Amino acid sequence: MDNKRVAIIGAGITGLTTAFRLKNSGKSVDLFERKGEPGGSIKSYQQEEWLYEFGPNTLLLKDKVVRDFLFEIGLEDKIVTANTEASKRFIVKDGELVPVPMSLSGFMKTPLFSTKAKWRLLLEPFAGKSNVENPSLAEFVNRRFGHEILDYAVNPFVAGVYAGKPERLSFKHTFPILQELENETGSVYLSAVKRSLFNKKNNDEKISRSLISIEGGLQQIPVSITKQLDQCYFNHDVTSIEQKSDGWFINSQMGNFGPYKDVIFTAPLYRWNTTLLPVTDEEVESIKSVTYPPLSMMVLGFKKEDVDHPLDGFGFLVPEKEKRNILGVLVPSTIFKKRAPLDHHLLTVFVGGGRQPELADLDSDKLLSLIKSELKELIGLHGETIFKEHIFWPKSIPQYEPGYDEILEVFNTIEKRNPGLHLAGNFRNGVSVPDCIKSGLKLADELS
Ligand SMILES: Cc1cc2nc3c(=O)[nH]c(=O)nc-3n(C[C@H](O)[C@H](O)[C@H](O)COP(=O)(O)OP(=O)(O)OC[C@H]3O[C@@H](n4cnc5c(N)ncnc54)[C@H](O)[C@@H]3O)c2cc1C
Repeated sequence: MDNKRVAIIGAGITGLTTAFRLKNSGKSVDLFERKGEPGGSIKSYQQEEWLYEFGPNTLLLKDKVVRDFLFEIGLEDKIVTANTEASKRFIVKDGELVPVPMSLSGFMKTPLFSTKAKWRLLLEPFAGKSNVENPSLAEFVNRRFGHEILDYAVNPFVAGVYAGKPERLSFKHTFPILQELENETGSVYLSAVKRSLFNKKNNDEKISRSLISIEGGLQQIPVSITKQLDQCYFNHDVTSIEQKSDGWFINSQMGNFGPYKDVIFTAPLYRWNTTLLPVTDEEVESIKSVTYPPLSMMVLGFKKEDVDHPLDGFGFLVPEKEKRNILGVLVPSTIFKKRAPLDHHLLTVFVGGGRQPELADLDSDKLLSLIKSELKELIGLHGETIFKEHIFWPKSIPQYEPGYDEILEVFNTIEKRNPGLHLAGNFRNGVSVPDCIKSGLKLADELS
């Protein structure tokens, strides 16, 4: 067997990043993807002057390793940084868009939280540790910061980032930094202050945070990587992966491939089964317990004159307490240049998620009328839709639920039993695109 041969299943960002780094370290990489194009969850489209995303819209760039990777794949001159207006964000409170405070004085004045909630926040250093096993994010935030912060900050934020609910997410796995800070001094606030004053370690790994996209949309990342790989088998739905005495073999309806020394499997958890992978029924049952909430994204274009609100920010999030039918809205035409024709807004509206899964699969017409009535009330929309596209994600983003350690342990067990098989993807080490890039690079470095 050729020790340099590696097979990768899935041309999402995790598989592609790993493939790129392994190829550059001298491995011979075969990449298999069931669809006809690379990107997985990353999907960008251009129709005349409308440039829109059906998956991730923005990347939060804060790690040098991710920035260097984007340079390495040839996108240095294509990175687009968000407009300054995008630092302004809104949260809906009592039917109004309220700006998210950006400073302590802004926080003290904001109508988002009551005076009692603001004072409650000052008591954070005195909050005790949890005695709940596997606390949820909701339990953590409620205990440390109080219920208003949970309802009007964390609840909408989690709906926007994970399409989830804080009650159903593990705080340890979704925000590991919070656990680190709590463990350091017993107070998130005091640890953060201490770190900013004394702890300069790892600074060379961090860069100043910026929100970015790529000229032509985020799908240019997978497209650019794919162009630099040698063996990409698209439209190859892998049906089984098996180990024989001379190595690993990949079987698909298009043919059989192998032997390989290593196989990297990045397909989402809901696709795993005992035919596809060397896993047991019990392992599949555990893995399938991980939920991916359904989500609809509707991309809409309007004339600016037909919307009363200036939409001068990143977008707005809707707390569950507001009892509305949308989770939130991004305004890509404010965040980035060249997303919509002159004097038009481009909006991306999110519906469903873990909060209202039953709304996610409404047909486009019903969804549009539901969204328009919300937008009429919230931002004063009164004109016709100039542009409309809709995508339904039956399974959007894996939820790291309380007790996710058990799922991680299942991955470890499968890997230990099957040397040469590696499991990677947004179900491990973080769901964001930068998280997936970091974990893909780390895995490739371990195998090089
Ligand atoms: C709607 C949405 C919005 C998001 N917004 C953001 C955001 O704004 N910012 C951010 O950083 N992140 C965001 N994310 C998260 C991020 O986009 C994903 O977590 C990440 O792209 C997942 O990459 P992946 O490679 O791990 O998995 P995937 O992208 O799911 O790739 C897996 C690939 O495996 C392929 N595959 C599956 N089965 C097989 C098989 N049997 N044979 C061959 N191929 C197979 C699939 O077709 C797919 O291409 C968002 C995700 C979604 C869904």
